[in-house]
Amino acid sequence: MKKLKYKIYSLGCKVNQYDAGKLASGLSSAGFISSDSGADLAVIHSCAVTASAIAKSRQALRRARKENPGAKIILAGCWPRAYRQEAESFNGVDLVLAKAGIKEVLLAIEGLYAFYPAHRQEPLLGANSERGGRYFLKVQDGCQQFCSYCVIPYARGPLTSRPSLEVISEAKAAVLAGFSEIVLSGIHLGLYGVENVRPEGAEKGMSLCKLIEQLSRIEGLRRIRLSSIEVTEVSDALIGLMCKEGKLCRHLHIPLQSGCDKTLKAMKRPYTTSFFKKKLAKIRRLVADVAITTDVIVAFPGENDSDFNKTMSFISELGFCRLHVFPFSAHSLTPAASMSNQVNDQVKRLRALKMRALGDKLSKQYRQAFIGRDLEVVVESFNKGCFKGRTDNYLEIDFGRRDILSANKNKKNLIGETVGVIMK
Ligand code: SF4
Repeated sequence: MKKLKYKIYSLGCKVNQYDAGKLASGLSSAGFISSDSGADLAVIHSCAVTASAIAKSRQALRRARKENPGAKIILAGCWPRAYRQEAESFNGVDLVLAKAGIKEVLLAIEGLYAFYPAHRQEPLLGANSERGGRYFLKVQDGCQQFCSYCVIPYARGPLTSRPSLEVISEAKAAVLAGFSEIVLSGIHLGLYGVENVRPEGAEKGMSLCKLIEQLSRIEGLRRIRLSSIEVTEVSDALIGLMCKEGKLCRHLHIPLQSGCDKTLKAMKRPYTTSFFKKKLAKIRRLVADVAITTDVIVAFPGENDSDFNKTMSFISELGFCRLHVFPFSAHSLTPAASMSNQVNDQVKRLRALKMRALGDKLSKQYRQAFIGRDLEVVVESFNKGCFKGRTDNYLEIDFGRRDILSANKNKKNLIGETVGVIMK
């Protein structure tokens, strides 16, 4: 029997890519083979976080049709979840899957091909991460915060946390497959375990800190990193764990979104700049060399020049080591889309440029503080005589074999190993 070929077009955040990776593993174990073009099945794992993400998802659909003539096309991910009608009206899509998990997608594919997959179970390991490097492990999904600009709660639904035993089995399998770092991912990661209402969810009493403690006992696992966490959920227990648990990376991605209290309120963010500043001061006082990265939205409705300048000054003062800058993008489902005082596109572009320039300056300043220091780096890749690796506090470092100071310098395969390197 002819083997069916598949191609997945994956867009968006690590959670979406994790889902796409699990689907790829599921299709492979069901007998499909991965292909770059001319596939029999093309799945677009779409993203809806910004208007440009939706535009890219549309482009991916068109590309999928062009690259795989004759293929059945499935549209999954956040776009159809949030904007089902619009997604269903798109020409040339055989199946739109809103609110579908991996098992449902596999079953739907079975229906499309009258094909009986060997394994309908969700596979243990996803195919989304680089071997020897970091394994993105989704432990949580959904959000109920409903920030006024964000479409994610409409797309991803309520909080759901995976049972810790399931997470630990997947982490062990990732370590056995050669991964040395687990990146715990979720839509609202800091609330892992809090809902405790779904029988298939995390066990009663579980929390992110307890999960980290359990994961840190896995032999062979070198690092645990958190993908992103809200400032209100950086608890004393988590800060304490960052100080005492050597495997937990000294890196926190804490979305700020604005450094102006008036704008934070309009965004329905549950903190003030003063709370944010105090929390960062505490983290930095207790966790040496911690890396703090953030997201910021510029040109939110009603943000005037003075509000924007407040955000610029606040970010300069706090000194983040990396900024992800998003010009505001209106989602028709969200309250922010109908707010008065929308900022025009030209101002949006200018503010984004200024904020990105500030981000570049802050990143350089952060790196410079480590020049000349002996750092512990996990090697992620090797290409044309050059290794690439990352420190636990998120410094990306390129180096040659002769720059390695540790005893494993001459080991043939260093991918996934920890080495000592002087930062240049
Ligand atoms: S916390 Fe706010 S920004 Fe983050 S996913 Fe939930 S609603 Fe969106």
